[in-house]
Amino acid sequence: MNINIIGAGAAGLFFALYLKRRRPADSIHLYEKHHRRDAAGWGILLQDRAKAYLAEADPDLAATLAPHFCKVPNRALCFHEHRFDHDAPYHDTIACHTLIDHLRRACADAGVICHYQAVIDRTRLEDLRQTDLLVGADGVNSVVRQTWAAHFQPKVQLSRNRYLWLAADTHVGGFRLVIDRRQFGPLAANLFPYAEDRSSVIIDIPETTWRAAGFARMVDDQGAVSPAGLDSLNRALAPRLDGARLLSRQNRWKQYPQTHCSAWSYENVVLLGDAAHASFFSKGLNTLVAWEDGAALAKQLLHGEGPLTKRLSDYHRKRRGRLAAYQRGTHHKNGFFEDLERVIDLTPDALFTLIRDGD
Ligand SMILES: Cc1cc2nc3c(=O)[nH]c(=O)nc-3n(C[C@H](O)[C@H](O)[C@H](O)COP(=O)(O)OP(=O)(O)OC[C@H]3O[C@@H](n4cnc5c(N)ncnc54)[C@H](O)[C@@H]3O)c2cc1C
Repeated sequence: MNINIIGAGAAGLFFALYLKRRRPADSIHLYEKHHRRDAAGWGILLQDRAKAYLAEADPDLAATLAPHFCKVPNRALCFHEHRFDHDAPYHDTIACHTLIDHLRRACADAGVICHYQAVIDRTRLEDLRQTDLLVGADGVNSVVRQTWAAHFQPKVQLSRNRYLWLAADTHVGGFRLVIDRRQFGPLAANLFPYAEDRSSVIIDIPETTWRAAGFARMVDDQGAVSPAGLDSLNRALAPRLDGARLLSRQNRWKQYPQTHCSAWSYENVVLLGDAAHASFFSKGLNTLVAWEDGAALAKQLLHGEGPLTKRLSDYHRKRRGRLAAYQRGTHHKNGFFEDLERVIDLTPDALFTLIRDGD
């Protein structure tokens, strides 16, 4: 089979690797807009079941990644001056660029032909579709999904809060959910270490507070958070950073686009991962879901029955039940951050119970 994939993120890479390892004669071309060494994001959490899944699906890749995981030793809620430690399940974390770099190298070693710094637009898509299968694994703003939107029928709901993904130049000790009221209003931050001297910091602020506090204006000409914006956040989080500093790599404030598509395939075009179904990321499961999508599609190509169009719709049918339950869970979780104005006035015990029960 001849296959073109748009997007070298978790979904596109895992699909390519899974299929190429099992059917080496397939010709697979992968197109990625970033440089080979660039990956979006800082560090991510992976639940134990994601690591177990990887060990079974690709033991070689799991073995090369094993030394790069960072065990997060404990978990705490920091609410105003209170701190609650609790025993929710712990996760491993890993730097995004490490995870993606290993996947990209494994793909190249297996014989997948990777084209980097290749931004695919609608015109180019028409050419790339002149093959057996075109895979849209191009993330939340998928150009593949937009090009055939009349067939995929996407519904995109933007979150009411704004989030910003930064890092801190320290190991913060464990997983920390900080909920606090600052001079500009309520703020939530998820912090967790992913290396000896680095932690991920995801800041959530209600839209109204974000505007009133001037964060909308504290951006540079590319739309990334400006030094003034970063200073303000450094001051707001200082009590929880123990002297560490926040880091930005041209990071921008965003609204999360919860996405649902009625169909995931049209003729010889199919969607994978966030391109097909973006869900709020707080449960540390989205990467696993992207891998599962990739493996499920590859299994249909390897062992499915009937013509390609039937195999593609079987892939969607098999995946959608699992995803519906999963998306409901993450939507509930995002609601928590969207309602921060209300949550901030709960008593410490009530908030702690709410968080513990939602885990
Ligand atoms: C703030 C934040 C925190 C997160 N935390 C976690 C976490 O802790 N645990 C977890 O499991 N998941 C987490 N996620 C989610 C996770 O990163 C994604 O769900 C997962 O990577 C989905 O993979 P994907 O391959 O579908 O999309 P992506 O990883 O977005 O990959 C899409 C790829 O397509 C490329 N691309 C896009 N458009 C084009 C184009 N036109 N031409 C060429 N290339 C293109 C992009 O550059 C990118 O490399 C988080 C996400 C966010 C935003």
